[in-house]
This record gives sequence, structure tokens and C-alpha cells, in this order.
Amino acid sequence: MTAWLYRVEGRWCVSLALETDVAYWREKGVDVTEGWRYRSVAQAMCEREALEKGKRRERGWMHVGFARGGVGGENVPVGLGAAMERGSLKKSAELWREWRPLLGGRSLLLSEVRRVLAIRWKGDDLSQQRILRVLQVGVLKGEVFLRSAVRTIGGQANWRCERCHAGRSRLVQTACARCGGTCYYCDECLLLGRSRACEPLLQIPMPAREEENTVQEAAGRERASSRNGTQAGTMSLTPAQRRAAERALAFVRDGKEPVLLLWAVTGAGKTEMTFAAVSHVLNRQGRVAVATPRKDVVNELTPRFRHAFPAVRIVKLHGESGETWLDGELVIATTHQLLRWYRTFDLIVVDEVDAFPYRHNESLQAGVRRALKETGQQLWLTATPPRSWQTAFRQGKLPGVTIPVRHHGHPLPEPYITLERRLWEKVLKKRQITALDQFLAHVQRVGGQAYLFVPSLSHVTPVLHWLSAHAPELRAAGVSSRDREREKKVQDFRDGEYDCLVTTTVLERGVTVSNAHVAILQADHPIWDEAALVQMSGRCGRSSSFPSGHVFWIAQEASREQSRALKHIRRMNREAWENGWLKAKDGR
Ligand SMILES: [Zn+2]
Ligand SMILES: [Zn+2]
Repeated sequence: MTAWLYRVEGRWCVSLALETDVAYWREKGVDVTEGWRYRSVAQAMCEREALEKGKRRERGWMHVGFARGGVGGENVPVGLGAAMERGSLKKSAELWREWRPLLGGRSLLLSEVRRVLAIRWKGDDLSQQRILRVLQVGVLKGEVFLRSAVRTIGGQANWRCERCHAGRSRLVQTACARCGGTCYYCDECLLLGRSRACEPLLQIPMPAREEENTVQEAAGRERASSRNGTQAGTMSLTPAQRRAAERALAFVRDGKEPVLLLWAVTGAGKTEMTFAAVSHVLNRQGRVAVATPRKDVVNELTPRFRHAFPAVRIVKLHGESGETWLDGELVIATTHQLLRWYRTFDLIVVDEVDAFPYRHNESLQAGVRRALKETGQQLWLTATPPRSWQTAFRQGKLPGVTIPVRHHGHPLPEPYITLERRLWEKVLKKRQITALDQFLAHVQRVGGQAYLFVPSLSHVTPVLHWLSAHAPELRAAGVSSRDREREKKVQDFRDGEYDCLVTTTVLERGVTVSNAHVAILQADHPIWDEAALVQMSGRCGRSSSFPSGHVFWIAQEASREQSRALKHIRRMNREAWENGWLKAKDGR
């Protein structure tokens, strides 16, 4: 991608359409007489950096080969003829006023700018030249931040993908057909389209509120009239939910804390607790995103928010949602999709904040922070905060609120922990495993369905064989992350086609079956931490028609994670009981 470097009023500037700059400055009575052309945005950026820091002498520097391979700048004297005519500049400026509300709040590659405009702009001429000229007006007015999509300025430790903030280790060196030189692209956010050093990334902050068009104000009025509906929704919350909802509302009303943790037990109904806070932000013309690491959660949440906020424009964003380039006051998205937003949201609700891949992925976390306005706030929802957060929460360093009871008011089922010596050998040799027999007998007696969790893919088939030997009457199926028929099998399990599902942790979150019971085989396996054990056990007793059930942890020995998970479950039950929020106690 061609980029230009020129000097004006003692500064060095990078441009995507030099003729626009020349005309712009000429209107201000300043003549730009020389520019240097590069075949890569990153190269122009590097040269500017070097010139500004005085690392390169001004005269003769363009004859020096480009330091990191590729071509050096080319000296192009700019005659007056190269400048845009005044009328053309005016036209570009008018178009920019039209485009800015459509592009505002985004962080986009050039190809993505084109796609947004193709969908949302009524005009027709979307030639490359026009797009570049109009965007360049935005750059000159300070309303667009122009960057190279991959930053290669300074030492390699400073290199990064500007879109996802991945560092040098995720940047791939390549001989690039676009710029004809040695170039870098980002491997981390490749799924969203290739972010390359030679291409621009355009970060376009949201126009200030008063500049936004009046359509939004109208939407705001509509919402105000529907506000009562949402608040009536708050009335149907349980006392524990209401405490959390009120805390979240106070959090957004005060606007002082950057983060609030909503620590809700599995099956607490945590989405509903955010409605009051979300509604408050929307009512003051703010923008809200609900982000989650998982696509299936996006699909599940969207109808619930659409139901609760019928007058609000809601868009659903994930790789296959087909709404990627649309805009809404409320955005429900995967955390990946938030990488395409820039300083837009007043509130981001991050659901399942500890789930893969978000928790250990710096780049996604940085993406969420960047999608927030500078004064924006985050609401973290999880049943299983990492230990460091739990500690910070208890010490009062991380503001938060617990919801220790499920929506139906029954306690979390506490696990029966049984130790079986040589457990896996018994599975392989199809010997009797007393605890498992008891568990399956119970499930059959109550006409329920069973999850049998195993540590890995290789454990699935042996357990199925064990089942066919010891409980041949049970209809059992096995699934794992690599199973192509996984979705169908899970659906069949939900429909009651199977009594028993042998599964790896792929199902630890999300899938809800009403009369479900849980056995975890090899509960002492190192793959399972406190969070996984709590999540898997949380599959049991979620519905109000079957609020309790059996949870068995079958292990060869006691493990630290098991005792942490057990403590976690018991502490929540105790807190619920102390608050008088339990309808019945299991008596165990
Ligand atoms: Zn990236
Ligand atoms: Zn390139």
C-alpha cells in the first residue's frame, strides 16, 4: 500500500493520499513541495520516527537502503498540479462528515472500511482513490488515527500488531506480494483478516455525543418509554439476584470503579442481574457491549437481551453471525470481535470471563480495554473466578458481589467424594467400581440422565466399554472436542435419546439438561483445577423442576484442587444459608 511522507510546519506527516494533504495545507496558506513515496505504511512510519528522533540526516537519507529490507523512499517533488482542486477537497470533507458516524468507534483495515461503507453508505463510488482521500481528511482533522496494522518501529520488543496488540512472537515474517518487500503479518488475529505491516489500520474514535445523528436521540426517547418494562423485570429477581443487580446499577451510576466482579454460582441466572445496569447506561445514551469468549454463549444471550430490550438496536457479532458490519446501541459479541472496535463502549459486560481463550489471552483482554471509552467500565461475570481474583475480592481490592444461590433457591449439590484404588485399571479390565455402580443405580432410579466426565479423549472409549459390561441397559454415547458429531450427540442427549454421556471437559460449561447428575472419573487428575470441578459439578440440579441431584467425584487419591473446589461449593452454600436465601437444605 502506497504511503507518503512529507514535512509541514516542522513536523513529519504520513499520508495515504498526498494530494489531499497538499490541498488541505494550501488552503491554510502552507505549501507542501516535496513528498517521499513508500510501498509500505510501516516503512513510512519507521522513516518518520527516525527523522523525528534525528537519527537520520535530512539530506541524503532517502538514498540509504531501508534498514529492514524492502525499498527506501523515493523522492517525488510535488508540483502544484498534483494537489487536488479546491472543490475536490471540499467534496472529500463533506463525505467525511457523512462517513464518520458510520465508521466511528471502529478499528479497521482498509478492506474493512470498504465493507462497512458498502453496507451502510447510500452512495455508490467506492473507488480506492476516493476512500483514501476521504479518510485522509479524517486523519488531517485528527478524527482518524492512522497506523500501520503491524507496528515495526524501534527494537523488536516494541513491535506489535496494532489491532490485537500481539507481540513479536506472533508476527510472521514474509515476502509480501502487496508491498514487494520483507513484511510482517499477525498470526494472532488472522481469523479476522490479515493485519500486515504494509497496510494501514484506521482507528476512528466515536464522535462526541452531540455530534452523533439525531436517530439515536429518537431511539433514546423510545427506550425511555420502555424503561418501566425493564424495571418490572428487576422485580421478578430473587433477593440474591436483586442484591447483585442493585450493586451493578450503583457501579454504573457512580461510574468510579473500572471493574466490578459478579461472582455467581452456576445456574444463578447471572445475565438477568445485568439488565438494570445495562438499561441505565443505554438510557443515558451510552453504548454497551456484552462480550464472551464463546460463540454459543453469544447465540444464547442474544434472544434474552432482545426480549428484555425490545426497543434497543441489538447486533450479534461472531464469525458467522452475518451482522459484522452493522451497528447497534447494544452489541453482543465474541471477545475476538471486539478487536474491531475502538473507544466505543461505556460498559462492557464480559460473560464467562475466566473461560478459554480469554483468561490467558493478553491480546483479547487488551482488545476489550481498547473497545472501552477511556471512562468506560467492565462488569465481569463468572461462576469460577481464578484464585488470584478470589483473594483480591476477599481483601476488598477487587470490587464485587457474590450471588451464592441458584435462581430456584436450592443449594449447590455437594459432591460425594469416593476414593477407588487402581481406578483406571478397573475401568480397563471392566472390574467393578462400587461408587460408579451406586451412582448409575441412583440415576436410573430417579429416571435422570448422567454426565460422566473423563480427563481426556483417550478415556472416552474405555469408559463406554466399561458401561456396556456393567450397565448394558443404559443408552450411552461419548463425545470429545474432536468429535465431528458432537453437536448432534449433545442435542440427542438433551432430547433424552441417551441416558449417559461420557465426555471430556468440552461440556463443562453451557449445556443444561434438567434432571442431570454428574460423575467425575479421576477427579484427582492434574488437568482439572478448582474451576473445572466446580463447573462440571454445576451441571447438576439447575432446573427448578429438578433442583437437586447426585454429584460423585471418583478419584484414586485426594487432591488439593478437589479440596479447594469442595470448599468453594460449601462456602457458597453457607453464605446463601446465612443470608436466609435457601429454600431447603439438602441435609448432607
Ligand atoms: Zn493481530
Ligand atoms: Zn507487505
